Amino acid sequence: MQFVKMLKIRVILDKRNKRNIIILISIKVRGSLKNFVTFADVALAKAKKGMSVNMEFFDSHAHLDDEKFDIDREEVITKIYNSGITKFVSCGYSLEGSKKAVELSRKYDFVYSTVGISPNDLSTNWEDDVEKVSKFLEDKSNKIVAVGEIGLDYHYDTDKNWQKEAFIKQIEIANKYNLPIVIHTRDAVMDTLDILKQYPVKKRGVFHCCPFNRELIKEGLKLGFYISIAGPITFKNSKNAEEIAKLIPLDKMLIETDSPYLAPEPVRGTRNDPRNVKYIAKKIADFRNEDVDVIAQSTYENAKRIFGID
Ligand SMILES: [Zn+2]
Repeated sequence: MQFVKMLKIRVILDKRNKRNIIILISIKVRGSLKNFVTFADVALAKAKKGMSVNMEFFDSHAHLDDEKFDIDREEVITKIYNSGITKFVSCGYSLEGSKKAVELSRKYDFVYSTVGISPNDLSTNWEDDVEKVSKFLEDKSNKIVAVGEIGLDYHYDTDKNWQKEAFIKQIEIANKYNLPIVIHTRDAVMDTLDILKQYPVKKRGVFHCCPFNRELIKEGLKLGFYISIAGPITFKNSKNAEEIAKLIPLDKMLIETDSPYLAPEPVRGTRNDPRNVKYIAKKIADFRNEDVDVIAQSTYENAKRIFGID
């Protein structure tokens, strides 16, 4: 069963019979009944206050091009759509990955893409790859909303100079096409921030898969970047999860699954997909003592703003 976009309920006090009457003004929560029932407590609590509830989710970072979806990609994307995930971004990370991400954003209305070469996918031909990837940006119908994921990753031993050169080169491409960037950074906080200060990105961007690093978050926010929170916020062994969830202002926060990896609790360890972004929103809401729809709606609007989606 499916609903569409927004649920509006008004509660009227029936004085004669001393009871509340709940009037359904319109029901527009697009998504499965299951998704609706998951958050029915929130909807009902708000309805009692005469407030409307809008439960749309935007997964800012997923990899539906990943080979883990080769057997049932179409089916999963249909399920994602039917579950109330209104939009998601399929992120490129290599030449091949960027190509597949673009194929998806061309094919599905509610899917957008990014293109870029990640620090872990740099080969000796990286300059060629970057050149080819930037060609996709010339066609507006590709629905590419950012250059990414790009950045620095010192966890593995890819040459640091290549990484820096490729990062800077791709920042220049983002500036040329007036796009924000999606940053991947691991064990390289200082160098990432240094490059961003030295080579400003006109349209700013997003730190994806929010590293639990206060310094990076504070400095990233100062530079005007958004911070996207992923599954680890729900993990029991994540240190500072609550602090991080509270540190990021609501107007600078995004949520993401980074599918097919990093599935959040309570589905940790399974193949992740954008349907699970609601668990991340719920955890953040609990930490911040907010209703889940507040997190859903803010992150939805923020994603539209940074990615320039109407
Ligand atoms: Zn990713």
